[in-house]
Order: sequence, then structure tokens, then C-alpha cells
Amino acid sequence: MVSQCANPDCRRKLRYLRDGKIYIFAMSTRNGSKSLEHFWLCGECSKSMTLTCLKQSEVKTVRRRQVTSHRGSAA
Ligand SMILES: [Zn+2]
Repeated sequence: MVSQCANPDCRRKLRYLRDGKIYIFAMSTRNGSKSLEHFWLCGECSKSMTLTCLKQSEVKTVRRRQVTSHRGSAA
């Protein structure tokens, strides 16, 4: 199970699953079989980025394109 944020620039420790987002990717292992791997983006990172899986072997952070242009001011 994941224990920290998948963003290498963040690496926040996973404490609450409700904070952030869990991603599950089917990754190819060395012997050719597949395994489901879990990745977690913390709440802050999941606001601005998402995770994608490349060639079932590499997980990368991707900036969200549909970012809301206006920030909702916290009341
Ligand atoms: Zn993070």
C-alpha cells in the first residue's frame, strides 16, 4: 500500500485516505505478469495534477488542464 504522495516533489505522508486521491494502475512486472499498484496524490497535489500510467511500467504526474480559472475564496 502507498504511504506517501506520488508526486516526487511533495512526498507528503499518507495519513487520511479521504485527503487526496487514490489511483490504481495495472503495472507490468518483470516476469510479464500484471499487478495492480496503488498510488496516492495528496489533497494539495490532486488539485493541480493527476496521475497517468505510461506503458504499464511508469507512473507520472500530469498537470491538470481543466483547472478552474477562479479560485473560490474560502469564507
Ligand atoms: Zn502531494
